[in-house]
Amino acid sequence: MTGHDHSSAKPWSNPALSDTEFDHQHLWHPYSSMTTPAPVWQVASASGVRLRLSDGRELIDGMASWWCAVHGYNHPRLNQAATEQLENMSHVMFGGLTHGPAIELGRRLVALTPAGLDKVFLADSGSVAVEVAMKMAIQYQQARGKPAKQRLLALERGYHGDTMGAMSVCDPRRGMHHLFAGVLTAQHFVPEPQAVYPKADQPQDASVLAADIAGLRQKLESCHQELAALILEPVVQGAGGMRFYHPDYLRAARRLCDEFDVLLIADEIATGFGRTGKLFACEHAAISPDILCVGKALTGGYMTLSATLATTEIATTISQGEAGCFMHGPTFMGNPLACRVACESIDLLLDSDWQAQVQRIEQQLEQGLSPLRGQAGIRDVRVLGAIGVVQLEQSANVAELQPLCVAQGIWVRPFADCVYVMPPFVMSNDDLATLTTGIQTALGQYLAGS
Ligand SMILES: *Cc1c(COP(=O)(O)O)cnc(C)c1O
Repeated sequence: MTGHDHSSAKPWSNPALSDTEFDHQHLWHPYSSMTTPAPVWQVASASGVRLRLSDGRELIDGMASWWCAVHGYNHPRLNQAATEQLENMSHVMFGGLTHGPAIELGRRLVALTPAGLDKVFLADSGSVAVEVAMKMAIQYQQARGKPAKQRLLALERGYHGDTMGAMSVCDPRRGMHHLFAGVLTAQHFVPEPQAVYPKADQPQDASVLAADIAGLRQKLESCHQELAALILEPVVQGAGGMRFYHPDYLRAARRLCDEFDVLLIADEIATGFGRTGKLFACEHAAISPDILCVGKALTGGYMTLSATLATTEIATTISQGEAGCFMHGPTFMGNPLACRVACESIDLLLDSDWQAQVQRIEQQLEQGLSPLRGQAGIRDVRVLGAIGVVQLEQSANVAELQPLCVAQGIWVRPFADCVYVMPPFVMSNDDLATLTTGIQTALGQYLAGS
């Protein structure tokens, strides 16, 4: 007899801990403490714009699972695409093999992204797409005989992911830089642009934009010899502060990068696929970057997948360099299941009247959140495309504010001093009204109590 009695229960099948207790004691959550875990809500299922909790309550989802679920959850077309692909093949390696889903996705990305981005690298997550973009820029400069150009220039208030390379170009003051000082590559930074995205009813001060651009020029003048690339989030700075800046700054950045022989990397992981009202945020400035990162909404929130696109010039130069190839190749590169769902998600987006949907959401968010403008404790309310931001005077206490939102039947996850929403594009006006009214009520209770 062997020591194992296969008829007996598995050690985890008669749990001593409830699900909630187990979660608290054993599972890390994003940016979480294992000693004083913040509350978490258990989701049993999700459909359309609703999350159904295990206790039966339903929440209207204002987050689209961090920019991803643009079509809502459990979408019949995405489900069908995933099921069909699953029955065909879920995964094969991409080294030496290729397949329809990757080719189909490549066709779509090349056709839809800004002109000139013709070479596609498929990666596993946003952070990895950023690592790939940084490595491409550095390998490109090396291959053309400029090995000194190996640093990145980034904007303060920027966010590009959590892996080592990506972290090195995140906001240096408010991010994690000091914790990892000495480990992260020291990169160059310029202050974030102060000129905000122009709105018809708000006067613009041209001197603010001019000063932003002059600052960028000065920085490039002083350190371009060390720079492989400028990396930025076009027009919308996401997790680093939810800021909307002037497209003319992006246009100037494109010009200045050319002038100083520095590549431009656009990180559209948050903004890509319609979120800001354009398919890609670069279109607000009618520019093409040299390298583009997409992720998040790429699969409509079904699974993790990202892509880094580059110009033919970059790809050719890298391929003719010392290595003769680009030095990267993740295990799950081009995962067929993810690629197939990404194709369906893109088709679904293009089949829909997404521009009208995003515009409608913009109007509803503006209308629903504007009553908060000027209230005590609230610094700013701003809306662009299907993104609504309420910036508080002080950092929000998530452990206090989040349960107040859940009590209103809405899922909103505040970050730092921002209470923000980026709903699925399919959210109805009624649900949007519930969402914004819920934010008003929860914030009213929160600010009255703090
Ligand atoms: C979320 C995000 C990333 C990182 O993507 P992950 O999939 O979380 O690794 C990078 N850049 C931007 C702009 C993002 O919003």
